[in-house]
Order: sequence, then C-alpha cells, then structure tokens
Amino acid sequence: MKSSIAAGRADPRRINADLHCHSLMSDGTLSPSAVVERAAAQGVEMLALTDHDNLAGLGEAAARAAGLGLPFVPGVEVSVTWGGETIHVVGLNVDPQDATLEEGLARTRSGRDARAVEIGEQLAAVGIPGAYEGALRYVGNPALVSRTHFARFLVERGFCRDVSDVFSRFLVEGRPGFVPQRWAAMDEAVEWILCAGGQAVLAHPGRYRLDRVQHHAMISDFRDAGGVAIEVVSGSHTVAQYAEYARVAVEFGLLASRGSDFHGPGESHVELGQVPPLPDSVVPVWHDWEIAA
Ligand code: AMP
Ligand code: MN
Ligand code: MN
Ligand code: MN
Repeated sequence: MKSSIAAGRADPRRINADLHCHSLMSDGTLSPSAVVERAAAQGVEMLALTDHDNLAGLGEAAARAAGLGLPFVPGVEVSVTWGGETIHVVGLNVDPQDATLEEGLARTRSGRDARAVEIGEQLAAVGIPGAYEGALRYVGNPALVSRTHFARFLVERGFCRDVSDVFSRFLVEGRPGFVPQRWAAMDEAVEWILCAGGQAVLAHPGRYRLDRVQHHAMISDFRDAGGVAIEVVSGSHTVAQYAEYARVAVEFGLLASRGSDFHGPGESHVELGQVPPLPDSVVPVWHDWEIAA
C-alpha cells in the first residue's frame, strides 16, 4: 500500500530520511543489501541508495528494504561538468528501468576505465607502481572505477594516512593522479532524471570550488534545467553550511534534502542517518511523497 510518508507526522522535517549513500556498485564498501540493513539498524526511516552514475544496486536494495519494511527511494548520483568544475546531481525516485536515464549514465561512465589507466600511469611516474591493478581490487562494479578505489589502494600501501589525506595530496588538480574528465552537462543530467520520473537534487553544494558569482550561476542553471531541491544537511557539509544552504534553498525557492553521503564503515566520518534534522525554514523534498511502506 502506498501512503504519504509525511502523513501523521507533526513535523515531516523530523523524519530520519537518508537520501544519499553508496554501495559496492560504485565507490561504497558494502553491498546494496548490507547498506539497507545497516540503515535500518541505525534508525533510518526512509533510505535512498544513490550510487555514482549507475543503477545496478537498486533492485537488490529495494528487495532487501521491502523485506525489512523500510521505505526505499531508488536514486542515483550523476557526475556533471559545469564551468570546468565537477558537480554532482542526485536523482530521487527515478525509475531504475528507464532507458533514457540508463543510456545517459552509460555514456557518462564510459570514459572511466581509460581515465583509470591514466591515473595509474601518473602515479607510476611518481614512484607508485601497480596502482591501476591495485585500485581494481577494490572495485565492485567493473563499469565504475573511481578515484575512491585509488584512494583505498594508496592508504593500503601506506602512502597516505586515510582517504581524505589522499584527496589532499593525490588525485586532485595540481597533484599526481589527476586526470580531468568531461562528465554530463547539467541540463542533460537533469533531463535524464526527469525522464525517469525522478526529482533532481543538487548534491552537497558546499563542496564546490566556485566563487559567489559562479555558485549563484550554477544553482540558477540547475534550477532552470528543472532541478527542484538542494542538499541542505549533508555529511559533506559543515554545521555552518546547514544554515547557509537552508538560506539558499529559501532564496531560490528549492526544496531541501538530507543525506549522509555514507561510503562505508570506518571510512565515512558520518554514519547512515546520523546527520541533524533539516532546519525549520525549509520544505523537505519528501513533503508530498507517496511511498510504499
Ligand atoms: P570520481 O567520480 O572517480 O571522480 O570520484 C569522486 C569520489 O571521490 C567522490 O564521490 C568521493 O567519494 C571521493 N572524494 C572526492 N573528494 C574527496 C575528499 N576530499 N575526501 C574524501 N573523498 C573524496
Ligand atoms: Mn563517492
Ligand atoms: Mn558527491
Ligand atoms: Mn555521494
């Protein structure tokens, strides 16, 4: 039976919704089933799995969630290039069978393997051999080799303390192992999500290296393309950014989303479901959702 997730709740902002996390189908470390089980154990009341650029984990996650009676939202996190910067756009309530979305994602991820080979070559040139093969050992989905898999290899070999240490010394612009990639265009990514019946959410807006003017232009472009929400409370945001992006949501007339961006135990600093509730000033993206419970 479908019913409104917000019905009967005095304040829908208080629902423990985690609408951003990853499994082994992209750069998380747990299987889709294990992510769902862990979310339920952590008190999550509604979960979206949002793997990067693919939908392969959604069937398994939905089946496990149904078994546990946990409301489940099929999602995806699409890699976008805007103004030369990588931006992430989350799709929520997408149809996992939608051909337009799947074709767009297939195109978006198609350059990943060649990029990974180049990352390996760059690391070899600074005295770190075998990184491509080493990263592949962490990959759960051959279609989705990510910088995170290289990061795990660099930690394993003792080159870095942890994954965030890796991203300050390697794999980013100006450092060894950075290979620029052209991802989807903003309007295409949003269009695929809309085609698949979903809602487009700008992921962790506080993370992008854009100045004020560019930031404003990027959010305007996202909204003009048909985007309807931004992540306000994110595991990738600071406490100050919760308030800042609540103001941005109100200013731009966007709904607000909430998610941990969990990648795995011991690696993510934020556990599934363990981020604060949305601020009172915003309207949650789930305010009018009908969801199977
Ligand atoms: P890719 O899509 O291959 O470029 O890899 C991007 C992924 O790297 C993101 O989804 C994060 O999981 C991870 N990542 C990027 N920057 C950082 C960072 N500073 N700390 C930890 N993980 C990061
Ligand atoms: Mn990731
Ligand atoms: Mn992201
Ligand atoms: Mn993410």
